Amino acid sequence: MIHHQLIVVGGGLAGLRAAIEAKDAGVDVAILSQVHPGRSHSGAAQGGVNAALANHPEGHDDNPEKHAFDTVKGSDYLADQHAALQMTTDAVPAIYELEHMGCPFSRFDDGRIAQRPFGGAGYPRTCYGADKTGQYMLHTLVEQAYKRHITMYIEWFVCRLIVEDGVCRGVVAYSMTKGGFEEFRGEAVIIATGGAGRTYSTTTNAIISTGGGAAMAYHAGVPLKDMEFVQFHPTTLYTTHILMTEGCRGEGGYLLNRDGERFMAKYAPKAMELAPRDITARAIQTEIDEGRGIDGKAYVYLDLRHLGAEKLAERLPGTRDLAIHFEGVDPVYEPIPIVPGQHYTMGGIDTDVDGRTSMPGLLAAGECACVSVHGANRLGGNSLLETIVFGRRAGTAAARDILGHERSSGPDGNVGAAAAAVEAYVDDLASREGTEDAYAVREEMTEVMRAHFGIFRDEATMKAGLDKLVALKARLKKAKLRHTGGVWNLDMIRTMELEGMLDVALAIASGALVRTESRGSHARTDWDKRDDERWLRHTLACYEGDDPPKLDYTPVDMGLFEPQERKY
Ligand SMILES: Cc1cc2nc3c(=O)[nH]c(=O)nc-3n(C[C@H](O)[C@H](O)[C@H](O)COP(=O)(O)OP(=O)(O)OC[C@H]3O[C@@H](n4cnc5c(N)ncnc54)[C@H](O)[C@@H]3O)c2cc1C
Repeated sequence: MIHHQLIVVGGGLAGLRAAIEAKDAGVDVAILSQVHPGRSHSGAAQGGVNAALANHPEGHDDNPEKHAFDTVKGSDYLADQHAALQMTTDAVPAIYELEHMGCPFSRFDDGRIAQRPFGGAGYPRTCYGADKTGQYMLHTLVEQAYKRHITMYIEWFVCRLIVEDGVCRGVVAYSMTKGGFEEFRGEAVIIATGGAGRTYSTTTNAIISTGGGAAMAYHAGVPLKDMEFVQFHPTTLYTTHILMTEGCRGEGGYLLNRDGERFMAKYAPKAMELAPRDITARAIQTEIDEGRGIDGKAYVYLDLRHLGAEKLAERLPGTRDLAIHFEGVDPVYEPIPIVPGQHYTMGGIDTDVDGRTSMPGLLAAGECACVSVHGANRLGGNSLLETIVFGRRAGTAAARDILGHERSSGPDGNVGAAAAAVEAYVDDLASREGTEDAYAVREEMTEVMRAHFGIFRDEATMKAGLDKLVALKARLKKAKLRHTGGVWNLDMIRTMELEGMLDVALAIASGALVRTESRGSHARTDWDKRDDERWLRHTLACYEGDDPPKLDYTPVDMGLFEPQERKY
């Protein structure tokens, strides 16, 4: 058994920021991460991070209230309004803090941090480091964590929470490099494990974005909030679904159909290519479905040619490389074939603005959490922001609880029992009959999610999809583990992970089927209007074992902005 006062699961931006805050408050903190923190998915973020710095010549009267309004309108009014304002207010000092830590943001000629326009934003307020913003932010925080000698357990796969008497006491983790399970106990646990994009077959997310942390909390009895809201990014490469950042359109890129028409004029006449993602993704899908894809095929063009080689080299160098290497197209000379793809998990572990969940000792932050600031549709640039703002707040809250002796310090409870239970469970997986293949189940699940819970949804399609997920869950019970112990046992990791993924998928599916309206990313062809009277509320999915989740609802925090029709 290993003890630290605070255990942070996940070394992405949210986990690092939480750990740094707690460490600075005097807490003994450890980060556990499946990969080296510097390889977390945060490092793939390209376009930028929002804060109303008012540095852009067209944005000098920008402020946190306007940023909060754009966020709430973008969310189709499902975001909690005071939480959104908290985020946009904390945004400004959070960016300057990163700057002071050494994050190499791009700059205007006068030396101030540069900002570019992004979708759904009233002002150009997205700060960026070329098109490698996530990489720059992540490496800055990794450096800060090393500087503070924060203990890191790298290549440890966390598989269970330890819960005793309704209190979270730690986690059980598998050492990928040494083999074997270990208990990590502490006074508080912060889950910061990122999104669940890999539940879909077509996603921009990294292979490790499986929703594992959300599933652990869910299995332990903490509800998942608003899971039916899944973001599809408008522009991913046609053949690989690798992201082409929104920065491409922020810098002036066009979307074109087979007739060379800038079709966004029909869907968002004012904002054009800079409409929010839900609207833009639906527009692209509609063009494709109605036969106006390029040469009748299932893609349209993202055209950057008119920006010129120099601007692409300065602002979007990584994007150009990705298009050349993964699509065989050089954006300086050719338009890029793109389609929408799964990108972001708006829902997640239900938390308050300090990352606290309904379970004492358990907090969550980053993409795995749902505060909720993104509601039914997240604005580009707001999730990098969420990680640093709510990561910091969760670190502060955990430190306050620990140092204020909210919970008993030091190891207690039934030490060793949780790790032994996981070992017994793994042995059981290996001794099953084994008529099914977990890898086949996983592939089918991701296809079900793509085909049945995609950009456009309807009752019959979703019902059929939900039935398929239930059947897949039953099939997984007949999948046998081929190897149990040892090092780098990916067979074991992937199988345990898949159980969580299927439950996360079921939470998405169940919430979506019941919500008879269209709001943000949840677009139903059979209920095509937003219905504030019945559905201006958050969905809570509660885990029910073999049955689909029990759904509950909570009110949305309002009071700052009246819901309006969303026009752009
Ligand atoms: C391609 C791409 C581009 C993006 N671009 C932008 C952008 O420009 N602007 C923006 O605002 N947002 C962007 N986003 C979204 C944003 O990057 C993410 O929401 C955010 O970085 C998530 O950070 P996180 O700290 O919550 O999780 P992550 O960075 O995903 O980190 C998760 C961590 O958890 C660990 N982990 C997971 N499961 C386990 C486990 N079982 N055991 C141990 N460790 C585990 C991983 O090892 C990792 O360290 C982008 C996302 C993608 C995919």
